[in-house]
Amino acid sequence: MVVVKKIGVIGAGQMGHGIALVSAQAGFEVVLRDIKDEFVEKGISRIDKFLSKSIEKGKLSVDDKEKIMSRIKGTTKLSDLKDVDLVIEAVFENVDVKKELFRELDKICKKDCVFASNTSTIPITDLASATNRGERFIGMHFMNPVPLMKLVEVIRGLRTDDKTAKLIHSLAEKMGKVPVEVNDSPGFVSNRLLMPMINEAIYCYMEGVGSPENIDNVMKLGMNHPMGPLELADLIGLDVVLNIMTVLYEGFNDSKYRPCPLLKKMVQAGYLGRKTGKGFYTYE
Ligand code: NAD
Repeated sequence: MVVVKKIGVIGAGQMGHGIALVSAQAGFEVVLRDIKDEFVEKGISRIDKFLSKSIEKGKLSVDDKEKIMSRIKGTTKLSDLKDVDLVIEAVFENVDVKKELFRELDKICKKDCVFASNTSTIPITDLASATNRGERFIGMHFMNPVPLMKLVEVIRGLRTDDKTAKLIHSLAEKMGKVPVEVNDSPGFVSNRLLMPMINEAIYCYMEGVGSPENIDNVMKLGMNHPMGPLELADLIGLDVVLNIMTVLYEGFNDSKYRPCPLLKKMVQAGYLGRKTGKGFYTYE
């Protein structure tokens, strides 16, 4: 089995920049790839900002920050992934985009390189079918925000071998995370439970059962959730929530997963939550 020294992270967005950060913090060399220079730069500057805040809080030295930053190389070229030992993919939640990417990577990367997807819902077995390395293909589902959340849901596809599952288990631990293994099914465990709750909260708001603040307060004060479902939806991104609900709806062919019409409308309007400054709440 490959010894992982260099990790390629694909997609420098909300999740990708966080995955690059925890990988570099754990001592790995990181190649961070996005499709445009400005996206790569934005991802790297978010990492820089997070580390500067850690210095302000007295959790990190200036020296350590420099070491972490020096391990991360940004690129837009897929060919720069040719010598990585592990790929962690965090691009848009779109099955065609992901499969096309993995098809390309399968040609570029080393034979023994392991492929992991951070997909929230798309079956790992389906993504793996775009490659010739089903045994070395696995789901590595980080939670948002990556640097703060402990869980990594590890999802075995039908062909994933034990060595790959073991490797990803130990890598997640090296990154300071707690891996929990589940089997391949739409939404896995995390989103099969979380997303229908968020979707139902949006129905409550649409039907006038409560304001966003009141809906969130019920869940925070009554159920001890650290964030309300609508605040959380804004943090995750409403486009991501809609994509996940659609995968659940189509994956199970069951009307109980029907995406709320208001969610669809908000995504059409470009109200995607924190990343666009407006969702159920408004952000500066
Ligand atoms: P995002 O929109 O913030 O970032 C996606 C990035 O991928 C963008 O910068 C985009 O330019 C880039 N991209 C698209 N196609 C690419 C390609 N072919 N090569 C390289 N880069 C490409 O999205 P996100 O929230 O970071 O989500 C990424 C993945 O992580 C999705 O699969 C999502 O389901 C999953 N996920 C998201 C969350 C969350 O809370 N946002 C949590 C867990 C998992």
